[in-house]
Amino acid sequence: MNQDVAGHPYTTLPADKAACARCAAVVDAARADYSASGDIVCTRCASVQDIEATEERAVAGMKALGFGNIATGALAWLLNPFFLFSIASVVSALVVLRAVHGPWYRQRMSARDRAIASAAAIAGAVVGLYPIRALLFALVGIGLD
Ligand SMILES: [Zn+2]
Repeated sequence: MNQDVAGHPYTTLPADKAACARCAAVVDAARADYSASGDIVCTRCASVQDIEATEERAVAGMKALGFGNIATGALAWLLNPFFLFSIASVVSALVVLRAVHGPWYRQRMSARDRAIASAAAIAGAVVGLYPIRALLFALVGIGLD
């Protein structure tokens, strides 16, 4: 219980004190925070862990939005009232592309993950636009013969 990660016993700490598992700062055991794995951490390290967990969820959410856009595009094949799902797939692709190439995600996602999320989002937009290709080609003046 009163051991740090290296296995050295904190025999000199009083019973009501504990060492932070991350930074080894002495914390009051009665007011200590706990990490996800149940270790006692100081307030500062608990905040850092909260922020890290939140950022990981945001990155996972952006990847999910990229891959989920393929499903949005596929919905446009089944039902597409007012081109709703075609428009949604394009808007979703733009949101993903803008986000993952912005400064916040660039710091927190690898280049490979950003490329994969972008490719999935673009694929979703292509799938979503395919059912209305005749309309799109007519808009730019290309006939489908
Ligand atoms: Zn700490």
